[in-house]
Amino acid sequence: MKQVVIVSGKGGTGKTSITACLANLAANDAAWHTPVLVDADVDAANLSLVISPEVHRQVPYSGGLTAVIDQEACISCGACESVCHFSAIRHENDRYQVDPFGCEGCTLCQRVCPAGAIIMIRQENGRWYQSGTRFGECFHADLYPGQGNSGKLVTVIRKQAEQWTRNQGQKLMLIDGPPGIGCPVMAAVTGIDLAVIVTEPSASGLHDLGRILQTLYHFRVPSLVVVNKSGMNGEAESRLATFCQQERLPIVGRIPFTHQFVNAMINQQTLLEHEPDGTAADALRLIWNVIKQTLDKD
Ligand code: SF4
Repeated sequence: MKQVVIVSGKGGTGKTSITACLANLAANDAAWHTPVLVDADVDAANLSLVISPEVHRQVPYSGGLTAVIDQEACISCGACESVCHFSAIRHENDRYQVDPFGCEGCTLCQRVCPAGAIIMIRQENGRWYQSGTRFGECFHADLYPGQGNSGKLVTVIRKQAEQWTRNQGQKLMLIDGPPGIGCPVMAAVTGIDLAVIVTEPSASGLHDLGRILQTLYHFRVPSLVVVNKSGMNGEAESRLATFCQQERLPIVGRIPFTHQFVNAMINQQTLLEHEPDGTAADALRLIWNVIKQTLDKD
């Protein structure tokens, strides 16, 4: 079983649309059919806009513990407020209260409370789902607004997807990674076989490519680059090419700038379904071929 993650150092590069296209291509490829999909962008999951998942399993997710003060037992000594590193305990309306959005569940307040007035409870922070799609089984999740620990949720859905992929004897997991370089990205790229970095020819595209690359180097993940919105800015694109050459990072495809990605998404289709004969669709087919050849080499 191979795991491929599609990442970008920033949002808005077209990563999710490209992931959906790769899922489309893999699903129609006899050698890799059928992929297992993971939407690891749990803070703003939107792969489902294109692949229309039909949920058949949903499981509550709890990222950790939250402190709650038993007001009957509290003697208002203030010890908990003074030790809280996250300023999550405040004295308001004549009583000490915990802000559940600020509490990181470290339990320090519980340990210093002389009255035993603090209990730690497990709260539901989101849900993860297993769904059927026209391209294969999909594991995705929603983190409730304001909730943290999205890296842990990414790990949870990846593990579920890995187990399911092995049990079904499937060969490929395609992961739509979170944007940026934070904890959820680390959870999405750890132990992966191949990262496909989607970037765009712009100053911020180049800057964020450098950032995500550092993360991928750290985790020793073999990486390829796809330039989306190619032709939009010739100067920025040549700087991007020079950078990739210096880093010995293969650019495996350039997808021309097109509004068809947006039109396809509006119609809940991949670009390959929406405009199969366009130049962008041709570029995507070539990219899929290189990805396959790279996976076959290992
Ligand atoms: Fe109340 Fe315990 Fe906090 Fe003191 S440490 S204010 S008793 S909850």
